[in-house]
Amino acid sequence: MQSPFDTEERRAFRESLRSFVAQEITPFCDDWDEAGKIPWELHQKTGALGVWGFGIDEKYGGLGFDDCFMRAAYSEEIARCGAGGVAAAMGGRQISLDPIARLASEEIKMQVLPEVIAGRKGSSLAVTEPGGGSDVANITTTARRDGNHWVLSGSKTFITGGMTSEYFVIPARTGGPGLEGISLFFVEADTPGFTRSALSRKMGWWCSDQATLFLDDVRLPADRMMGPENHGFLAVMENFNLERVGLIAGMLGMMKTCLEDSIAWAQERQTFGKPLIRHQVIRHKIADISARIDAVEATLNTICWQVNEGRMPVAEICKAKVFTSKACEFCASEAMQILGGAGYLRGNRIERIYREVKVMAIGGGSEEIMRDLAVRQMGL
Ligand SMILES: Cc1cc2nc3c(=O)[nH]c(=O)nc-3n(C[C@H](O)[C@H](O)[C@H](O)COP(=O)(O)OP(=O)(O)OC[C@H]3O[C@@H](n4cnc5c(N)ncnc54)[C@H](O)[C@@H]3O)c2cc1C
Repeated sequence: MQSPFDTEERRAFRESLRSFVAQEITPFCDDWDEAGKIPWELHQKTGALGVWGFGIDEKYGGLGFDDCFMRAAYSEEIARCGAGGVAAAMGGRQISLDPIARLASEEIKMQVLPEVIAGRKGSSLAVTEPGGGSDVANITTTARRDGNHWVLSGSKTFITGGMTSEYFVIPARTGGPGLEGISLFFVEADTPGFTRSALSRKMGWWCSDQATLFLDDVRLPADRMMGPENHGFLAVMENFNLERVGLIAGMLGMMKTCLEDSIAWAQERQTFGKPLIRHQVIRHKIADISARIDAVEATLNTICWQVNEGRMPVAEICKAKVFTSKACEFCASEAMQILGGAGYLRGNRIERIYREVKVMAIGGGSEEIMRDLAVRQMGL
């Protein structure tokens, strides 16, 4: 659908991403998914496009400007390869860069941001714990003050990029119970007491790594605390907003892939003496997929416009994330029906999207939590 917010720059940015994905990712992502990893050079090639530098000053390797439409275009276009693991393998940095850029010390920013933005090194955000991911206010990892140091103990799990990242943003409890006792820390993977083990045999995102992190008296200099003491909860919550916009855009890319592959198959496949696309039931499925794409795209554009205007429409982002994961699930299921048995075979995009849609309904704030938060934001 044509967007009233399109500009020449945004179109050029999207087109360059689209051809990058078509040449450098789509032909190889099946093999990467089966192998369980992407080549590290892809981080660097992708970083060279500047896609991780939004909102970050040029002196730290950033772009020196921000644009929510371009952020969303990155997530959407990279999802068009049909393997969510590719974006996830590189995406730990997307959700940890903003807090580093906003809250870390000058020394950390100078050392870390250029490396991560350029794709030479990885970073991750580690919020979820074995005891739960939804109830962030009740995390149990602790940080106790010891002279000029903080000492972290506990564990985190499901951490994307957890096996490959050098740098981690980790919330831990520095105060009393609840949301007012949490602070954020910057932790390097080679700090004594930090260990990790891989989570494997996942339903999807095979070419990305997730890990459980163990923090066994990890001793950090006091300046590794990011932002003011006991104000980490708000920082984590704020960070979720743009992560969710990225997830909505990624799902939009998945939905467009469902439409594209459904149409291509329906035009070619013959049943009962005519192409599948000439059967009304199939035409209606395509109309239904397409209508959901339009609805998500229009909502996403309005959200991006508001973010660019300096507002953060939290309730709308939450509602859009639920609506989009439901819409994406519908599109994946209908596309699978159109492809029939062929859609069930490994190695095609629809089969993978059908499996990977579920993590979008859980990660970055589950559907249940999104509804709850939206209604709370509505003052109810
Ligand atoms: C592939 C993958 C990658 C991930 N990457 C990261 C990462 O990089 N960093 C990170 O920190 N986390 C990551 N996560 C964790 C993810 O954010 C959590 O899985 C998510 O927040 C849900 O937490 P949980 O799995 O502990 O479920 P729980 O919090 O235990 O909830 C279980 C179910 O109950 C529902 N529920 C919980 N509370 C309520 C309630 N009050 N009312 C109604 N329903 C409720 C939830 O919606 C969910 O469906 C990742 C997860 C996956 C699967």
